[in-house]
Amino acid sequence: MTKTEKYIELLNNISVILSKKISPLNTIQSINKLLNTYLGITKSQYIIWDNNNMLLKDYMCDIKINDKDIQSKRINFAYTNFGLNGGNKFYFNEREYNIEPEEKELKQIEEESELSDSLIYPLSANGDVFGLLIAEIAKRKYTKEFFSIINIISRLISGSIINNTLNEQMEISLNFYKAMKDIAKIIESQYELSYIIPLIGEMIDRFMTSHLIYIFIYKEGEYKLVWPNACKDENIYKLVKKITPESEYIISKDERIGVFPIQNEDKILGAIAAYSNIEKLLQKDIDYLLQLTRQSGLTIHRANVYAEVLKYATMDALTGLNNRRQMEIRLNQETSNSKRNNTPICCMMLDVDYFKKVNDTYGHAAGDIVLKKVSEIIKTEIRDYDIACRYGGEEFFIILPHTAINEASLVAQRLRKVIEDNKINIQASSAANISHIKVTVSIGVCAFNNKMDANEFVQKADKALYEAKTTGRNRVIIY
Ligand code: GH3
Ligand code: MG
Ligand code: MG
Repeated sequence: MTKTEKYIELLNNISVILSKKISPLNTIQSINKLLNTYLGITKSQYIIWDNNNMLLKDYMCDIKINDKDIQSKRINFAYTNFGLNGGNKFYFNEREYNIEPEEKELKQIEEESELSDSLIYPLSANGDVFGLLIAEIAKRKYTKEFFSIINIISRLISGSIINNTLNEQMEISLNFYKAMKDIAKIIESQYELSYIIPLIGEMIDRFMTSHLIYIFIYKEGEYKLVWPNACKDENIYKLVKKITPESEYIISKDERIGVFPIQNEDKILGAIAAYSNIEKLLQKDIDYLLQLTRQSGLTIHRANVYAEVLKYATMDALTGLNNRRQMEIRLNQETSNSKRNNTPICCMMLDVDYFKKVNDTYGHAAGDIVLKKVSEIIKTEIRDYDIACRYGGEEFFIILPHTAINEASLVAQRLRKVIEDNKINIQASSAANISHIKVTVSIGVCAFNNKMDANEFVQKADKALYEAKTTGRNRVIIY
C-alpha cells in the first residue's frame, strides 16, 4: 500500500467512526487508536474552551486547565495565540509553523525532530478557534502530505465536537422547557401546597443537577423550609432572611448560594435557594433559576387562589367525592341524628397502601389515576345514603349512617377485596411504561356511641387504621 492509499484508508476509517451512533468519548477513543496505528501518534489530548466557566478544559475527562503548571500555561498561551492568527498556525516542539508548512519549514521540522515530537494543533469551526489538539508523535518523516492529513482530521474532529456540544445544549434547553411545563401543569389536578411544593422541588432538582435546591414558604413573617426536610447550612437561612419585596435575587459573597424570592405581584410567597456543588453559580444557572422561580410563584399563587375558591366548594376536585370541609359538616349532622334518634352509625378511614411507591415508580399522573379509580370503587360499593369523602392525599373517610358494626365490617371487607382484585389501567399517564397496576388498602372501622363526639369518632377509626397498617396492611381492623 502506498502512503497515499494508507492515508485514504485512515480517512475512510475515521468517517466510519464519526457516522456511528456512539458516545463522544468512544468516538474520540476509536479515532485515537487509528491515529496511533496510521500516524504514530502515541498520545492525544483534546482541549476545548468552556463558555460557561470561561476556561479551557479537557474534552475527554472534563478536567479544567488552570494556569498553574508549565504545561497548562503553554496550553493557554497556544490557545490565545491560535485565536489571534485565526487557526492558521500550529506548534511543533514549541516552534510555530504555518498550517500548510512550506519546504523551508518542513526542513526545519526535520531538524527539530526528536525521538518523540510534540504537536499543538488548533481545533476550529468557521474560522473560530475553540480548542486544541495536543499530540505526541513517534519520530518519523514529516512530509507535506502528513500535515495536510492532520489538517483534515482536525477538521473532522472539530465538526464532531461542535455537533456534540450543540446536542448537549439542545438537550439542556429541552429539559428546561419540560421542567417549566411540568411546574405549570401540577396545578391542573392539585391545589394542596403540601403536595405541590415537593413536586416543584423535585422538578427543579431534576433539572439543576449540580445544585442543591431548597424551598421556603413565607408565613406569618417567617421563612419555613418546606422542601426537602432539612437544611444544615446556616448561611442559606441567613441569606433567605435578607429577602425584601424589592430584591430580584441575592447571591452570597462566595457566589455559591443564590436565593430567589417566590413572588406574586408585590407579595412574597417564599423563596427558592440553590447551593452550587461546583465552584459557584453561573450566570446561566441564575437565569434558569429566575425563570423556574417565577413559574413556581405563578403555580403557588394559583394553588392558593384555587384553595380559597374550594373553601366554598363541597367537592374534591380530583375524585369528585365530598371534600374534607364537607365531611366535617356531614359528620356533625349524622352524629347528632344518631344521638337524637338512637340509631347506629359507623365510619371507616381508608388509606392506600404504599401509595408513595406508586407515585415514585409510575409518576404522579399514574398516582392520580389510582386515586380516581379507588374513589369510583368506593362510590359503587357503598349505598346511596353513605357519605364518602376524600380526607387528605390518599386517605378516604366514609360515613355509614344507620349501620351496625357487623354490617360496616362486611362493607369494609368487600371494599378491600374489590380494590385488591381490580387492575387499574394507568396507560393514560404518559410516564408509565406498564399498562395496569394493582393497589391494596387498609381500613379502620369504628362504631359510634353516645359518649363520643364527632372528633373522637374520627380518631378512633384512624387508630384502627393505624393498627391495620402496623399489622401488615391490606386488612380491615375494627376499633
Ligand atoms: P402507607 O402504606 O403507610 O400508607 O404508605 P404510603 O406510601 O401510602 O403513605 P405516605 O403517607 O408516606 O405517602 C402518601 C403519598 O401520597 C405522599 C404524597 O406525595 C402522595 N399524595 C398525596 N396526595 C396526592 C395526590 O393528590 N395525587 C398523587 N398522585 N399523590 C398524592
Ligand atoms: Mg398510604
Ligand atoms: Mg396516608
